[in-house]
Amino acid sequence: MDCIFCKIAAGEIPSKKVYEDDLVLAFHDIQPAAPTHILVIPKAHLSGCGDITSENSAVVAHIFEVIAKITAELGLADYRVVTNKGESAGQSVFHLHFHILGGKTLKGMC
Ligand code: AMP
Ligand code: ZN
Repeated sequence: MDCIFCKIAAGEIPSKKVYEDDLVLAFHDIQPAAPTHILVIPKAHLSGCGDITSENSAVVAHIFEVIAKITAELGLADYRVVTNKGESAGQSVFHLHFHILGGKTLKGMC
């Protein structure tokens, strides 16, 4: 499958890693939209949040644990977590990912 985030998870494409374990990887977004802009992905491919089922949803809970850990380590008290589903919602990479955005005052929702 030609998926850029699968390649990043496999180490085939470099990334600025923030956190990694057996299930998930967090790395800096290549085009940051805020002073802190980190992406957290499951290593196993899901195309987006529409693929989450009772069979695979444990990884999403784990991702939110990792988000709490990473932000605490960075001293980032206030931040936004975003996942886009579908092109018209702004999804450009079709591998589930959660944006962590912070380090500035964030305005608006869309
Ligand atoms: P989305 O538009 O919600 O699908 O988010 C995809 C994000 O992936 C965008 O913010 C891109 O800047 C980011 N991105 C794309 N390619 C890379 C890459 N090779 N390394 C890090 N971030 C990337
Ligand atoms: Zn993938």
